[in-house]
Amino acid sequence: MTHPTRYEHHIGGTAVPPSGGEYFTSTNPATGKALYEAARGNAADVDRAVAAARAAFDDPRWRDLSQTRRGHLLRRLGDLIGEHADELAEMESLDNGKLLREMRGQMAALPEYYHYYAGLADKIQGDVIPTSDRRVLNYTQREPLGVVGAITPWNSPLTLTTSKLAPALCAGNTVVVKPSEYTSATVLRLAQLVDEAGFPPGAINVVTGYGVEAGQPLVDHRGLAKISFTGSTATGARIAASAASRFIGTTLELGGKSPNIIFDDANVANAAMGVVAGIFAAAGQTCIAGSRVFAQRGVYDELLERVTDRARTIRVGDPLLSDTELGPLAFADQRDKVAGYVDLGRSEGATVLTGGRPTDGGGLGGYFYEPTVLTGVDNSMRVVREEIFGPVAAIMPFDTEDEVAVLANDTDYGLAAGIWTSNLSRAHRLADRLEAGTIWVNTYRAMSPMSPRQGFKNSGVGIEHGVESMKEYTRLKSVWINT
Ligand code: NAD
Repeated sequence: MTHPTRYEHHIGGTAVPPSGGEYFTSTNPATGKALYEAARGNAADVDRAVAAARAAFDDPRWRDLSQTRRGHLLRRLGDLIGEHADELAEMESLDNGKLLREMRGQMAALPEYYHYYAGLADKIQGDVIPTSDRRVLNYTQREPLGVVGAITPWNSPLTLTTSKLAPALCAGNTVVVKPSEYTSATVLRLAQLVDEAGFPPGAINVVTGYGVEAGQPLVDHRGLAKISFTGSTATGARIAASAASRFIGTTLELGGKSPNIIFDDANVANAAMGVVAGIFAAAGQTCIAGSRVFAQRGVYDELLERVTDRARTIRVGDPLLSDTELGPLAFADQRDKVAGYVDLGRSEGATVLTGGRPTDGGGLGGYFYEPTVLTGVDNSMRVVREEIFGPVAAIMPFDTEDEVAVLANDTDYGLAAGIWTSNLSRAHRLADRLEAGTIWVNTYRAMSPMSPRQGFKNSGVGIEHGVESMKEYTRLKSVWINT
């Protein structure tokens, strides 16, 4: 499959060159070689995109479209994405280095997101409120907000953009997306499919470029009614401050340092597989990575051995090959950041049981890092407290349920947690006690567009997926009529 080597912004339904005339290079992380150039956006490009989105929002073709018809458009978009799943999977794998077979799985699941919100579009409604005065009719209606700014990271560009775009369009908004500068291609292709599905030009606009040059002007733009962001906690804090100064809403999906807890009574073989998938999938570059592993004393040695043995045999290499199990980090700085954390762990006294070195992926030349297992660590160390966003598991023993609840909650983050046990009462008790927005019991990573998810603590604000997410893209109006 051949893919474009130069991309422009997507504004008002057309490809628009950057107003500054400049482009930046995106590289293939598996080889370190240039993949394509994309428009280097600036404040003027953002202005143009927000104006196009506002024009589309006010356009009667969108504003007056029935909710049923909005649902039809979303359904068509989901179908189109399904038809282009192979193309999108390959583009995204080349762009961020994730395994092609994993991206095929993600792309096969993507239509479901649009189909789910397609089904919800005609169910957005208000209520009639029985106030104490029977001569007055009071009703509510749910309205779209206006232009939504969406800023997304590089680890799952299409899925994470979809988590914003599908509910925002479902509720009748229009959107300006600023994808990560490391992965612009698939979001631009998605914008073409949105237009092709029949949404009016300007319903989706994409401005590519760097965070400071294109993201910040979007965040600060006075034409936005809401900002929806997925990325690091540090950037999220800046965005929250900007939005608060204008009293506009935010949905923020941020970082994580999730615990994966294995009890003596667990099926240890299954738990070990869950730990491996929890931390080594996508080379650890997932917000929900189970990076802090707590194993109860009775199974600690067995779990460690199983996870370490598996980590040693993981096939690291070309993400396009079907038997590769671990691809590269998405860019050189990310690989260096991971290496820096492991070195820091060593200096803090950690033992590296396996891994702990950058590699070139068997001569490919890209930004690979070995699957790594650390022991001799505890909650006082930065490798256990900070998000590494790489294939690095920190494995620690514990004795009691009470102890592990305290240890697992002793973190600034609260995105997800895994519990492995055959004791159902314990699973319920701990699920209740853990401070995380998603809890998995005897599984890890399960996700659905129907199931709402929220980051607790420094992991986020607001909800994505499910009916609740659609509501985050609406405002509620209360109408009183004196009858
Ligand atoms: P990042 O915060 O560096 O960048 C995310 C996006 O923000 C990019 O598009 C970037 O260009 C933009 N950006 C950067 N500075 C900006 C600024 N000042 N103003 C506006 N936009 C700006 O994050 P990243 O490194 O791309 O992504 C990795 C992070 O994302 C990790 O912390 C990970 O946990 C998090 N993440 C969270 C979820 C979730 O659902 N909670 C999902 C995936 C990733």
